[in-house]
Parts: sequence; C-alpha cells; structure tokens
Amino acid sequence: MTSALEQAIRRTGLWLYQLLEEESPSVFRKDYWLGKVLDWCMRDESFKIQMFRFVDVFPNLSRPESVARHFQEYFGRADAPLPAALQWSIRLLPPGSFAAKLAVNSIAGNLTEMATHFLAGASPEGALPVLRGLRSDGLAFTVAHLGEAVVSEAEALEYQARYLDLLDVLHRVQAHWPTILGQPEGPDWGHSPRVNVSIKTTAMYSQMSPLAFDRSIAVAKERLLLIFRRAMETGAFVSLDMEQYSLKNVTLALYRSLMEEPAIRDYPHTGIVIQAYLRDSEQDLNAVLHWAKRHRKRFTIRLVKGAYWDSELIWAGQNNWRIPVYTNKLQTDANFERLARIILEHHEWVQLACASHNIRSIACVMETASSLRVPDHRVEYQILYGMGEPVRNALRKAGLPLRIYTPIGEMIQGMAYLVRRLLENTANESFLRKSFAEGLPKEELLRNPAEDLRKAEMQEADDERSEIHDEAGICPPAEAQSAAPAEKAFENEPAWDWSHAANRESFKDALTRVRSRLPLRVHPVIGGRRIKTGSSFTSSNPNNVHEIVGEVFAGGVADARRAVEAASAAFPLWRDTPPNDRAEILFKAAAAARKLRHDLAALQVFEVGKNWSEADADVCEAIDFLEYYGREMIRLGAYRPMGKAPGESSRLFYEPRGVAVVIAPWNFPLAISMGMVSAAIVAGNTVVYKPASQSPVVGSMLVRIFDEARLPAGVLNFLPGPGGEIGDALVTHPDVALIAFTGSRDVGLRINELAARAAEGSRGVKNVIAEMGGKNAIIVDADADLDEAIPQILHSAFGYQGQKCSACSRLIVLEENYERLVTRLKAAAESLRLGPTEDPASFMGAVIDASAKEKVLHYIEIGKEEGQILLERHFGDAAGHYVPLAIFADIHPEHRLAQEEIFGPVLAVMKVRDIEEALRVANGTPYALTGGLFSRSPATIERVSREFRVGNLYINRGCTGAIVGRHPFGGFKFSGVGSKAGGPDYLQQFMVPRNVAENTMRRGFAPMETPKSGRAGKHRH
Ligand SMILES: Cc1cc2nc3c(=O)[nH]c(=O)nc-3n(C[C@H](O)[C@H](O)[C@H](O)COP(=O)(O)OP(=O)(O)OC[C@H]3O[C@@H](n4cnc5c(N)ncnc54)[C@H](O)[C@@H]3O)c2cc1C
Repeated sequence: MTSALEQAIRRTGLWLYQLLEEESPSVFRKDYWLGKVLDWCMRDESFKIQMFRFVDVFPNLSRPESVARHFQEYFGRADAPLPAALQWSIRLLPPGSFAAKLAVNSIAGNLTEMATHFLAGASPEGALPVLRGLRSDGLAFTVAHLGEAVVSEAEALEYQARYLDLLDVLHRVQAHWPTILGQPEGPDWGHSPRVNVSIKTTAMYSQMSPLAFDRSIAVAKERLLLIFRRAMETGAFVSLDMEQYSLKNVTLALYRSLMEEPAIRDYPHTGIVIQAYLRDSEQDLNAVLHWAKRHRKRFTIRLVKGAYWDSELIWAGQNNWRIPVYTNKLQTDANFERLARIILEHHEWVQLACASHNIRSIACVMETASSLRVPDHRVEYQILYGMGEPVRNALRKAGLPLRIYTPIGEMIQGMAYLVRRLLENTANESFLRKSFAEGLPKEELLRNPAEDLRKAEMQEADDERSEIHDEAGICPPAEAQSAAPAEKAFENEPAWDWSHAANRESFKDALTRVRSRLPLRVHPVIGGRRIKTGSSFTSSNPNNVHEIVGEVFAGGVADARRAVEAASAAFPLWRDTPPNDRAEILFKAAAAARKLRHDLAALQVFEVGKNWSEADADVCEAIDFLEYYGREMIRLGAYRPMGKAPGESSRLFYEPRGVAVVIAPWNFPLAISMGMVSAAIVAGNTVVYKPASQSPVVGSMLVRIFDEARLPAGVLNFLPGPGGEIGDALVTHPDVALIAFTGSRDVGLRINELAARAAEGSRGVKNVIAEMGGKNAIIVDADADLDEAIPQILHSAFGYQGQKCSACSRLIVLEENYERLVTRLKAAAESLRLGPTEDPASFMGAVIDASAKEKVLHYIEIGKEEGQILLERHFGDAAGHYVPLAIFADIHPEHRLAQEEIFGPVLAVMKVRDIEEALRVANGTPYALTGGLFSRSPATIERVSREFRVGNLYINRGCTGAIVGRHPFGGFKFSGVGSKAGGPDYLQQFMVPRNVAENTMRRGFAPMETPKSGRAGKHRH
C-alpha cells in the first residue's frame, strides 16, 4: 500500500472519529441494563460464560420457578458481580416463592429488552415501525428472518414460506416509505431496491450437509428459486448469508448454480458473502470473480470478517482438522483490506458491500475505492442492527450509503444470534470493545494491520532464532526435528472433511475401484500361510444381496486347532520381543492402514452397509487403536520399582498371557477387530482372530495391514467361519489363555461359561474380556435445547441403522418438554433420507442380514402391542435387508421394547414427571453401557453424572461415537466384563503382572541406589 493511500486512510479514519462525537454504543452504556451486564462480562470471564449460558436457556423456561432455579444455579456463587439485592434474592429466596417470582419478572423483562435491542420484531408486520424508523433516518436495511436450527423439512418449508411472506409484506408497504437519496418511490440512492432481504441457506433444507453436497444444492436451490423469483417480481434484492465453514463450499456452489438458472440469470439484485477470517477466502473470491466474468454476471459481494470465529476454533479442534480461520486478528483485518481491494478492482462486475463496524476497515474501503475511481453506486456500507450506533451515525453524517442488517424473529430462534452478538461485543479483539469500552487511542486503532502484522512476524522470527541460539548454539539437524512415531504424543486420526470436493471425489473413486474388484476371495491364514478349506460361504451387500462382496473359505474345527497350534508355536519368540519393537509394528500397521484408508472404508459400505461417514469413522478408529495401544505398551513395558526397602530390589512388570482368541462383531468390522487384535498383539500374545461371518472381507484386511507391517508369521492367525462351530472349538481349546469378545449378550455369556470350565490339559483359568449389549437411554430435560438434541437423538438412534451397541433405543423425556420434542422429533425423522448407503445423501440403509431384519420386524410388532406407533417409515426394495425406521410412544419401563436389545432402528419414547423418575427408568434395565442427557441445568447435569450409572455417559451430545483416548469405552452389568477399550486400563487385561524381589545384600553390603524403571522386555527375569 502506498504511503499516500495509507495517509489518506488515517485522515479519513480520524474524520470519521470526529463524526462519532464522543458517543458510546448503547451496548456499552452503563445506564442501560445491557451495558451493565456486558461490563460485568468483560471484567469476569467465568461470569460471562454463565451469563451467555443463561441467556441461551432463558427463552425455553416456561415456568417462573424454573427461571429462578436456573438463575440460582448459574449465578449462585458468592463473588458473582451482581448487585447486592439481586445476589440476596438469588441465594436466599426459595425458587417458588412470591419474592423470587418478582425478581424473575424483572430479570425476564431485562432479558427481553436485551433481545429487542438486536431484533427488530417477531414478525415482518411487527418490524415495520423499526424499518420505517430506519428509513426516516436515511438508512436502508436488509431484513433477515432468524432460523438457524431447522431440523425437519416441515420447518424448512415454513422458513421458505416466511420469506415469501416477508417479500410480500415489504413490497406492499414500500411505496409509502420515505425516500433515501433518490426519486420519490424510486430505488434507494437511485439504484438499489428498497426491499432487501438476507437468507440463511441452511434453513432451506433440513438435511443440508457437505457430504450430501449435490443433493443439498438441488433441494435448497429449488426452494430458493421460488424466493428469488418472487424477489424478481417485486423488484427486491436477495442476499445469501454465509454461515459455518463446513457449509461454505455448498453455499458458494449453490449461489452459482442458482444464478445460472435461465429464469434469474440476468437479475442483478442478488448477493453473496465472503468471510475475510477464512484462510481460503482469497481463493474463493478469485473463483467467484472468475465465474462472474465468464458468465457476465453482476451481483454484490458482502465482505465481512465472520461471525463464527469461536465456534470454528472449537469445531476444528474437536475434529483434529486444520483451523480454517486466521488466529491472529491482524491477519483477518489485513485480509479484509486485501479482499476489499480485489473486489473494488473488479467493480465492473461486482458491487462491494463493506460490512464492518471497524473505522479503520471502513476508512480503508472508502479510500481504496476513491483511489481506484470506483463509481459511488458500486460500494455500500453495512452494519448490524443494535451494534455500534455511533459508527452508524458517523457513516450517515459522512454521507455514505448505509444499510442496516435487521434481524426479525422470536426470542427462542433469536438466541443463537443474540449470543453471537454478545460474544462479538465482549470479545477481547473486538474493535467496538477496544474503541468504546476500553477507550484505546484512535491512532492505535487506525494503524495499518498489514504493517503491524509484518512487524509482529519479523519479531516472532527474531525470537525464534534467538531461542534456538540460546538453547543449542546452532540450528538442530533436520532429522532431530521429525520425531519417530513413538516419540510423538497420541493424536486421533482426523475424519475426512467432506466439505472438500477432493475428499468426496476420491471416496467416490474408491467405491468404483473396490467394486470393480468384487467379489474378493478370502482365505484363512494359519502360521503365515493362506489355506484352502473344504467349505466356503459368501458375503454380500446388505443393500443389495445380489452383489457378492466376498467368497470365503471357511475354517472348521480342525483348522481352529491348527490355528491355536500355530499361535502357540509363535508365542515364545513374540513374548520375548521387546515391547517397543512390538509397538513399532503397530505404528507401521497404522501407516499401512492410512495408505489403504479409502479402500478400507469403501469395503465397509459394500460389506456391512455403512454410510460414507460411518465407514470412514470406523477406519479412523482402527488407526487410533494402533497408535494408542502402541504408546500404551511403551508406557507399560517399563518395569516399575516397588517399595524402598534397603537391600532389596523389587520390580513389577507385565507379561503376555499366551494365545488369545479374538471373536469380533460385524458392526465395527475393522475398528473393534483391530482394537482387540492389536491390544493382544502389542501386549505380546499371539492371536487367532475370527471375524464375524457377515464381515470376513473387511476382517481379512487386518491380515493385509499386519503383513505390510511385517508382523512375524504365526503371531496373527485368521480364521473366518461359522461362529458356533469354530467359536466353541477355539474358546474351549486348552492352549488358549485369553478370549476377547465383542458381540451379543447371549454369546458373551456362553463364552464366559465355556471358558470357565477347565478343559482337559489346560494350564490355567482363561481370561475373558467381553463387550456385550446395551439398552441405552437419552434423558431429555425440561430445559433441553431441542435444536441440538433432536439431530443428536436421531443420529444416536438411527445412525448405522441403530446397529451399534452404544445406540440410543430409549428416549426418556420430561413431561414439560414432551409434546414439543415428540412433534419435532417425528417431523425430523420423517425428513431423514433413507436408501442405499452408497449414496452419500443417505442417512440410513439396510440392516446387516435377513435374520436381523426378521428380529427388528418382530420387535416392531411387539411395540405395536405395547405402545403407540409414532412413525414407521418403510423404504428400500426387496434386494436389500430394509426395515422401517420406527418410533414408539407410550412405552412403559417394563415393556419388552424398553428392556430388550433390538439392534435396529427402533426407538421407544417414554414420558416421565421429573429427573428422579427419569433416572429410575434410565437405570432400570440389566444393561449399563452408554447413556445421554440433554439439559442446561448445572444441578441436573451434576446429579445425572453421578446417578445415571452407565459405562459412558454423554451430556448434551449423542450417546454414540466414542473416540479412542478421549472416551474410553465399555460398560458393566450385562453390558460387559473387562475394562474400557481405548482407555489406559485396557492393555493390562491382556497381560499378567509379575513381581520379582531380589535380596541385594551380600555380606552386609548392598547397593543403596533405588533401581530406576527400565524396559521389561530387555530383561529376562
Ligand atoms: C451487515 C452485516 C452482515 C453480516 N453478515 C455476515 C454473514 O453472513 N456471515 C458472517 O459470518 N458474518 C457476517 N457479518 C460479520 C459479523 O457478524 C461481525 O459483525 C463482524 O465479523 C465483526 O467485524 P467488524 O469489522 O465489525 O469488527 P472487528 O472488531 O474489527 O472484527 C471482529 C472480527 O474479527 C475476527 N476475529 C476476532 N478475533 C480474531 C482473531 N484472534 N484472529 C483472527 N480473526 C479474529 C472475527 O471475525 C470477529 O468477528 C456481518 C456483519 C455485518 C455488519
């Protein structure tokens, strides 16, 4: 940037500051309640969190005592920065008392006022006085219906209808509005439609997702077309807002696709948003401009910094993805200026709407536009309703074309928006906060962000260089910088981010590639040799039984014995292999699995009917187990000195048990198999692995992965075949020391029983680790956020057709919320897309096989006798094992539907009076695997955490999808014996602890040093 331009920007900035005239935005004025609250928030971070959480839950609380109770729970701490009278009423008044209700009324009044500060009204008619008022002040507007959480198609269509209505209402009255710098009744500033609306695209289709990319565009486009056409008829302007990063590419593609429609392609009054806080934004902007030139389009780009900064950091962190936003505010500010310049340079095609409250950013746009001689009608300025009134007044006085983004909607819908505004106003980096609440000098706030960034980066580079010098005197050699796998801390394998076209395309290619190779031939592998056996079976695609995925040679009883012999023979050498070397094999296996990642997931789509995301998640989990257990073994491989007695060395260390039999399920055919097999192997056992009969092809991939990792022959033996026959032979074999099983309760109990009997010739008690079933419940509290709860409940109950041991099969709802929840849940379940899971838009497909289908259908009949069928969605054709998605209401705790594991897409809904009863029902089954709670009451969360006795309890999220290392997984009661998979105690079960104590005293002399911990495998005891 030239220094002349920079000087002009500062001059203009100072001039705008003068026009502010010492005003302060009302959000920071302490004579207003909102101003006081925000002041407390800015001074006390933990109060801020509680306040925003309270604001979030408040509109959902229908009873005054609930408001009082929540207020007490959120602000009951002694040092909360609240006025003394309020403090007193919170802590001393019973929530149901008259005085508490009075206090509640005052809080409710204040909160409602706070919401109205940012919302112009609940409906278009209700907002008309505000809109008229804006226009009387010479301000244009864009109206946005709030509608962030659309969980069903009914809600999406309602949202669409609201926009059609909004356009009609505004069209009807626009002729009576005051003119803004144009002809009477003519467009604003002589060129811009008076009616201008902004739309959230996610509200147009309830199933919008980056994975269902094409379908999301097709459905949303159809609905938007109607709105765009109505806008054309009435001469209105329509802009698409930009939301979270995961849907950014969908939104951009949707806009382009819409604008290529012949009916609207030449309409110039439309717009899209570019978010400058995104690292991709320049690339996206250039792509949009290229498209504009190619198609000779004219439209508006609203340039913003971005409203989801905090959320993007959290989402990226949770998924272990690259953070999509800049993390230094200077980068965002500098990028905003860079992108503004690019847009202005292309003013022939695009108009710029500069949406910012930051005087520096605005001044920069003004001066850049002037230096590029951009005509006035190609730039406008926008700010948010209720934010930065002094900025608004200054821009108006400066004569700039100014538009106010004006949201309308009910309080409940408005909460997410409101919390974002509160966050924005109180954020440390906010220009408004720095300028008006902290009073930073103008000169500082007007500095060039690109220049400051350059200086900061130079300083950082200097600091780094001097640190390296201080530590070592020289730069470290390159090889020292790339640590070996074992030295790196464990990190979860990130799932594919489907918002990137490359990931979707390569998975589509993998499906084609894998399909072209089907059916695959699978052999048992014993002692490193692939064998042919006398019998065989096939494995087929549950969504289309005519598609054969594998032709499999089945092992028999004699093969089972041979496999145990091979494993026994390989044991001594493997047992004595140092733990670190065994761990190294797991790290190599993880690398091999990573290379095969798409193919491994594609195989699962075909063999077990997972959808794309579920299949990919399974492969990630398998990789996680390898990486996690490898590191765990390194940790446990060191022997531990015990006690401090002089003259004695006492060490505890672990040794493998011997031959382990692994009997795996089909529902997580790679992940659970890999978890059990890799734990056994890395602990030093040798393994006979029997995959489920429904997933032998995926099972065979374990052998391939370990072959690539160069696992010695005989350590892993692979034996597909009929469960009953070879399963029993393996479990009862005298040379088997350990059985790791995951599957149904009946088979698990049988294995326990068989293993407990000492077979002739056996040399010990067999150890059994069994993960069995669940009858998992989610409790929905009266104050739950249903926008969050409903999608999560659907995912937990019907994700992978409900065929997860962690799946939610009981929904326990407090009566206060019951009707609302059930109505929305039903509509949301009706909106799910059902069909073959090979289609990326499918949420749910066929169940695994004919007997699973029969069982589910049988339980649906039972449910019809026991309760009321709320929803029964049939789909699919005779070629697949399709069962209806079913939801039952009026189920009682003692009903079979509430007690027995179904393992299919059947959900039983139960109504309860209060949390007490909810807990009684939730705990009232023979299982204790997973559970869930949706609540915004800290006291309820605390109580349920303690009293809902399950192995894995999830709060305010779904109850499936445990992640290795983050959610050690497993239950008790009839849900399993043994410790949690993917947790720090798991490997110990595969080993025996030993202790060696040595008297080190010789003739009255003993080394005094306490022995340090060492490597167990390298010491022969
Ligand atoms: C009319 C209008 C419409 C809008 N529409 C949308 C929309 O459709 N989608 C959308 O996402 N946003 C939208 N916004 C933007 C958003 O809501 C905020 O108003 C805007 O980001 C605040 O920027 P500012 O320039 O006013 O304030 P500033 O205080 O200068 O900037 C604050 C912004 O900087 C960014 N930031 C904060 N901390 C950091 C950090 N540490 N590192 C990097 N960046 C940081 C964030 O984006 C934050 O919002 C819109 C804004 C307006 C005015």
